[in-house]
Amino acid sequence: MEYQPTIGFEIHAELKTRTKMFCDSPNDPLENHPNINVCPVCMGHPGTLPVINKEAVKKVLLTGLALGGKVSQYSRFERKNYFYPDLPKGYQISQYQHPLVLGGEMTLPSSGKKIRITRIHLEEDTGRLVHDAGGFDARSERVSLVDFNRAGVPLMELVTQPDISSAEEAGDFAEEFRLVLRYLNVSEADMEKGQLRLEANVSLNMGTKVELKNINSFSALRRAIEYEIKRQEKLLKAGKIVCHETRGWDDNGQRTVLQRSKEESHDYRYFPEPDLPPVKPYEDEELNPEKLKSELPELPWQKRLRFIKEYNLRPEESAMLISDKNLSDFFEKTISELLEWVSSKNKARAVGTALNYLTSDLQGLVKEKELNWDELLVNPENFAELVKMINENSVSSRAAKDILRIMVEEGGDPSEIAQSRGLKQIGDESQLENSVKKVLEENPKAVADFKKGKLQSLQFLIGQIMRETKGAANPEVIRSLLTKIIERV
Ligand code: MN
Repeated sequence: MEYQPTIGFEIHAELKTRTKMFCDSPNDPLENHPNINVCPVCMGHPGTLPVINKEAVKKVLLTGLALGGKVSQYSRFERKNYFYPDLPKGYQISQYQHPLVLGGEMTLPSSGKKIRITRIHLEEDTGRLVHDAGGFDARSERVSLVDFNRAGVPLMELVTQPDISSAEEAGDFAEEFRLVLRYLNVSEADMEKGQLRLEANVSLNMGTKVELKNINSFSALRRAIEYEIKRQEKLLKAGKIVCHETRGWDDNGQRTVLQRSKEESHDYRYFPEPDLPPVKPYEDEELNPEKLKSELPELPWQKRLRFIKEYNLRPEESAMLISDKNLSDFFEKTISELLEWVSSKNKARAVGTALNYLTSDLQGLVKEKELNWDELLVNPENFAELVKMINENSVSSRAAKDILRIMVEEGGDPSEIAQSRGLKQIGDESQLENSVKKVLEENPKAVADFKKGKLQSLQFLIGQIMRETKGAANPEVIRSLLTKIIERV
């Protein structure tokens, strides 16, 4: 008997805003000092009142519009009541009956399959619990610590329909969604930092759903779902039942483990937040969906197609560039610099060289040195110049790699680096012609032998010219130049 998996997502993303969701405490995910980005509002002190952060609302609406969702005419916040030490108010301000966005869809780039979006809403994040930090209480018992810097940070929640049918599709969906968040600049969406949290619900043959949590990377996501499908298959084949529960991914054991049995939504006693007004985007100039739609940047799927057309790339080359916004930006700036120098008939070759050195060498160095693209000492202009030097044969490919490494480590202009380190190669025929002529005049016998078909003589002549130019000549260029000149005399 075949089991058909059905997978849906609940995804939380921390939004990139200056301040928190309902107060003006800074929203700074990089703050290491605990409990300093707090105030009476996000600490839930009695008598304080929340105020809606419009920037956060705008970011949710942009995401919804990018995915073709419908922005609600009327939206409101509700209290989700539960107790946990990281939640100072005893409830989370969230949305339930009237989310900001309903519907929408996203296409999986690998297969073209459309995954429907149910809703996107806005809520606040909780504080962070730190276990095993080494603290002890008065009785010398181990304690857990709470850091409230994250409490009240704007959190977007997106829920999908259960349209996903494999771990592979789930991974593709998650990666594409992260890209959308980054292209829209609404979230850093770094899974390892908890800025993007994926919960997948997995069921077989539309049976009981199991929710998977505690997933810190895309590969963990794929492995967790694969594991869970197999676990449920085994239960069903043995005639057992699948329990409605939440399971966490144990990365060390490479398995899912029971965390808790699932509560129902009525357990939260949702009710409208009495301290906040409803949100009516169509009546608010800053939030007007028509206006926001016109502000949408180019989205990943649009850019993928444009790169294929404009730069004549293969689909997989385009996809690879688009998978990192910084990389695709760098590529485009490099090409626009290059096109000022190369003629249109050499465009294809220039694009090819740039693509090659960017995606293998430069990206490799960025990874090796754990750099961010925006702090890179190499700018597209310098990089384009290096590409031009490679194409003109004024540096060898070996030397180009060395020059690029120096550019990354120390910065600087590639032609100056090539000059000062003796890495320049003479690839320009007119510069080499005198040396070639001189060597030919001095070695008439070798020339005569070559004309008789003795290939060894050609090697000898190339060697002489390399000596004459102190090794700076490009051997390929000499070879073709020699052949040409000898045929003439
Ligand atoms: Mn939530």
